[in-house]
Amino acid sequence: MFASVLTAAIRGMEVTPIEVEADVSDGLPSFIMVGYAASQVKEAQDRVRTALRNTGIYLPPKRITVNLAPADIRKESSGFDLPVAIAILAAAGMIEEKYLHGGMFMGELSLSGEVQAISGVLARVIRARELGCSYCVIPEGNLREASLVKDITVLGVSDLREAMDFIRDPELYAHERHHYEQEEVHKEPDLDFSEIYGQEGAKRAAEIAVAGFHNLLFIGPPGVGKTMIAKRIPTIMPPLTFEESLELTKIYSIAGLLTEGDPLIRIRPFRSPHHTSTAQSLAGGGRIPHPGEITLAHRGVLFLDEIAEFSRHTLEIMRQPLEEKMICISRASGSYAFPADFMLVASTNPCPCGYYPNMEKCKCTQAEVHHYLGKISRPLLDRIDLCADIPETSYEDLQDKAAQETSEEIRKRVVAARELQRKRYEGYGILCNSELHGKQMDEFCVLSPEASKLIKSAFERMQLSMRSYHRVLRVSRTIADLDHSDRIECEHLAEALSYRGLDRKYWA
Ligand SMILES: [Zn+2]
Repeated sequence: MFASVLTAAIRGMEVTPIEVEADVSDGLPSFIMVGYAASQVKEAQDRVRTALRNTGIYLPPKRITVNLAPADIRKESSGFDLPVAIAILAAAGMIEEKYLHGGMFMGELSLSGEVQAISGVLARVIRARELGCSYCVIPEGNLREASLVKDITVLGVSDLREAMDFIRDPELYAHERHHYEQEEVHKEPDLDFSEIYGQEGAKRAAEIAVAGFHNLLFIGPPGVGKTMIAKRIPTIMPPLTFEESLELTKIYSIAGLLTEGDPLIRIRPFRSPHHTSTAQSLAGGGRIPHPGEITLAHRGVLFLDEIAEFSRHTLEIMRQPLEEKMICISRASGSYAFPADFMLVASTNPCPCGYYPNMEKCKCTQAEVHHYLGKISRPLLDRIDLCADIPETSYEDLQDKAAQETSEEIRKRVVAARELQRKRYEGYGILCNSELHGKQMDEFCVLSPEASKLIKSAFERMQLSMRSYHRVLRVSRTIADLDHSDRIECEHLAEALSYRGLDRKYWA
């Protein structure tokens, strides 16, 4: 007899429906699995057979063939165990096949027959709904995550026996369907800008960067709080919409990084890969690639602490995603695209010892300083709109216990500035000032007459390149937005220029 069960394979961010076909026929007893399966899927043979036996189900001594179709897609992950088991049971006549129509199955089996949680359930359930399935049978451990998808019945099963009982008599379980209503427990982030004393300049730079979604580089000696400030940047970003939350949850589900208690990602990500990270871990690795750090930072912050210590090759990986807000990875099995719309925040010491240009403390030679910052390549630097100098904190700053602004107060200004941008760029296909380019610059970055004069003299005095000039304009536009000004005035421009002065100080 023959039976087939629907499941799905995840390739990058794409979910491909897979038919698990099983045939049980007379012949020498055997179990064959075909259909371009990776080793972990092939092992399903042993897991399924043992799980069935330990559940008290004995397969007839016949010839069992399982095929995963289409055969040209390589199947990874152990999520095929449950559909394979169900297909065999149906082909052996132990489950009526008519009950399998309109369902999608996924789950890993333990040898005792328990159905274990797998990664990527949310993405598969979303795909099942798109395919018009009426129900999904999934591991109970993934139930909360799957329940985020509306308009489809999701049944979490804890073992093989429960899965069979459900299929044999769906009505039996109809009244028991768990429903996890979305809990609106608003978890306040633990970090807050009010914990940082002094460093007003750096905080201001962070606010501007977030308001216009600009990339940001902090330069300063060690121990001045570059990391502290960077970590708090997500707390001043606009709150996630539900769609963004779901999109992020899908990514984290595929990466297998969801927490069981409250799977929905409600806070913008902050990812901080170590400088020894490989290019692969940033971009996404594996034969069938998994989301890398830059994808896990989607809609949030990717923080590269001590950016000059990263290998050049690793940093080069960043160029495409910074430009296109996604990353493409090519493999023999095809090419995979991952979203990567993040805000890059980087920090660096100005020199190997960290104290340049304070010549009393800095022990480095001019060549060493030059070589150190030279590791940050020009093309990468060109994608960073703001460079903020973080000076050493003075004793007075630390004593200044006056009430510091909270993240919430800063966020209000950011949200207002973003709203102005959203309205202004409606129909232009962009959302933020950082995306302005070409003719849009002339249209939207209108300078007051005094500001025009200032930019002209700065252009000559600071020997700005065309790229730097555009970056200054984009940042001025954001500063003007924070000030609710239609036109870019002198003070907006002057402040924007101050974030470029560093170029000359360090990279002259
Ligand atoms: Zn030094």
